[in-house]
Amino acid sequence: MEIRCTNGNMVELPQAISRLNDLVYNLWWVWQSEARELFRMWDYPLWRRTRHNPVGMLHSMTPEQLDQLAKNVPFRRKLESLMMRFDKDMANGHTWYAHTYPELRSNPIAYFSAEFGLHNSVPIYSGGLGILSGDHCKEASDLGIPLAAVGFMYPQGYFRQRIPSHGWQEAVYQKLDYRDTPIWQVHTAEGERLRVPIRLDNREVLVQAWCINVGRVRIILMDTDIEENSPWDRELTARLYGGDQESRIQQEVILGIGGVRILKALGVEPAAWHMNEGHSTFLVAERIRDLVQSGMELEKARQAVRETSIFTTHTPVPAGHDAFPFQLVEKYFWHFWEEMGMDRDQFMQLGAHQEDWGSAFNMTALGMRNVAHINGVSKLHGEVSRKMWQGLWPEGENPIVSITNGVHTPTWISGEMNALLTRYFGRDWLENHDDPDLWERILDVPDQELWQVKQGLKRKMFTSIWDRARRRWMEGEGGPMQLLTSGTLLDPEVLTIGFARRFATYKRATLVFRDVERLRRILLDTHRPVQLVFAGKAHPADDAGKHLIQQIVNLAKDHTMGGRIAFVQDYDMNLARFLVQGVDVWLNNPRRPREASGTSGQKAALSGTLNLAVLDGWWPEAYSGANGWAIGGLEDLPSDEEQDAADASALYQLLEEEVVPLYYQRDADGVPRAWVEMMKESMRTTGPAFSLRRMLKEYAELLYTPAVRASLG
Ligand SMILES: *Cc1c(COP(=O)(O)O)cnc(C)c1O
Repeated sequence: MEIRCTNGNMVELPQAISRLNDLVYNLWWVWQSEARELFRMWDYPLWRRTRHNPVGMLHSMTPEQLDQLAKNVPFRRKLESLMMRFDKDMANGHTWYAHTYPELRSNPIAYFSAEFGLHNSVPIYSGGLGILSGDHCKEASDLGIPLAAVGFMYPQGYFRQRIPSHGWQEAVYQKLDYRDTPIWQVHTAEGERLRVPIRLDNREVLVQAWCINVGRVRIILMDTDIEENSPWDRELTARLYGGDQESRIQQEVILGIGGVRILKALGVEPAAWHMNEGHSTFLVAERIRDLVQSGMELEKARQAVRETSIFTTHTPVPAGHDAFPFQLVEKYFWHFWEEMGMDRDQFMQLGAHQEDWGSAFNMTALGMRNVAHINGVSKLHGEVSRKMWQGLWPEGENPIVSITNGVHTPTWISGEMNALLTRYFGRDWLENHDDPDLWERILDVPDQELWQVKQGLKRKMFTSIWDRARRRWMEGEGGPMQLLTSGTLLDPEVLTIGFARRFATYKRATLVFRDVERLRRILLDTHRPVQLVFAGKAHPADDAGKHLIQQIVNLAKDHTMGGRIAFVQDYDMNLARFLVQGVDVWLNNPRRPREASGTSGQKAALSGTLNLAVLDGWWPEAYSGANGWAIGGLEDLPSDEEQDAADASALYQLLEEEVVPLYYQRDADGVPRAWVEMMKESMRTTGPAFSLRRMLKEYAELLYTPAVRASLG
């Protein structure tokens, strides 16, 4: 897509390193380990201080320092070789998609998501949904899928978490410094800043657009922070999931309707439209309106929109589906349905759904009723969703299929593990990382070497946790108690279990504390001790989630737990990387079947971390009996209380009888042979199958290309 973008904040660079700008303003670098090496070589302390933000690094350099850098020959050589790869990747027409679907290669597919988790330096994500969208864009670039992504550029992003000594999470919002963010302002063909008006209730709000380059993929991000808008409207897109229902519906009008109009203003004509979760489903209404306005009959328009639209549902938890009271929808759409050729009732019927508080306009129902291609994000979640939404279709006509989530391997694999696998899998292994045959070669890796790499990752995680604690301490941000509970007492020699994710209650972060006595015996065993590392944010409006955090912080403070429990604050992609790669065991114990997929365990497996998880989400598909552990079975008990008791007891038993003995059973050279064997089995079986590449190829085959073909008629 041809889109004009400018960036007025770009640093002028000496000729010899001028291409550094091309590199740092395209997030392609995020998944190139060579690029990360380059930035470390440039200035390692600065790389760490900016929390891995090369745009921020550029802005903190003086012209003299830049001249100095331009004289650094090894740096220049590395930059040159990297940029050769960059240019080759950007120009490459020989992609998987172009090869598999040559006739569809240039028909764009719009991809709408309320959040994108691309990198830490662009904090416009809150959790798994955003990480998945970000990974989706990266892999679309690798596979050559012509994706045109649309979302929000939240000026304040998602909140940063602070945990005071009383343990009650505080949310801190910081205005994002756009100067240090790799975003571009989108312009019209005439060179003006692009602005699109959206009607909200009885006023007009202007929306502007930004662009982020993710390899070959462009993400168009909207915001309303423009001088011409009223102060209230400028705040509309300030925060991700920040406001009440009223601001939420306004955001969703902007995303769904504004997004369609922005693409149109840019001359992008998508052949298919993918809505990632319900936040963007007003787009079907806008597309129908647009077709009707151009003269098409309503039923034909509905049919055309249906056949070319894709909807992915991401949660079986009812509260995870936005539903608005009809009066609220009326307020924003009373002028709209007529242009669709509908009356009020017909319009409301598009989204009508019975909630537990009454009938309402449900964004998921709106999507599902008006889309031909629908999927859940694991086999189990597909089944659960088919039951949950059966009421929308006549018996036997349920279109929901399953495509299990994956993770973008080049993003989530550590540099160290990548280097090891490159030695045994071959130099270009990442080009074929979804090939199961390739992963068979993990059996050739000597146990000692794999174990050494894993131990190195573990040490790196502790260094990073201690570093965070030290920085807080030096900035006067926490007292001694916070220092103790944030991981400073952790011991790198001890079996370490990680649990980090959003603190939604169904994830049962405190399950392992159900029998504190029994847990204490496990943690404090003299010969075979265990320690627990927690991290994660609760939604700012979720007091139950905050309460769970507080409980864990209180237990971390309890000296009888021996400093074997830590809560590391402000979970984000950066911390996630260190944790999933560094811990020995990744714990996941949601209440079945509420974890639609879960992806952090897939990231963990890529670095040889073993999964200890309830058979929910992706895990029933992956678990073989030899590649990790399953907590409990596939039968669900009648009440939550019984289920929690049974799962906690199964968890303790696994720890006592299997996990701990296996970890501490060492050969003379210090390597736990059976443990390493399980690591290999885990990597061999999950590495190819739960890659985002496998997932996106399925999207292309099952959902994208049928929709694109329908639009071509
Ligand atoms: C991967 C990831 C998640 C998703 O984890 P789940 O296992 O799906 O809960 C959430 N937050 C961050 C920062 C992540 O990197």
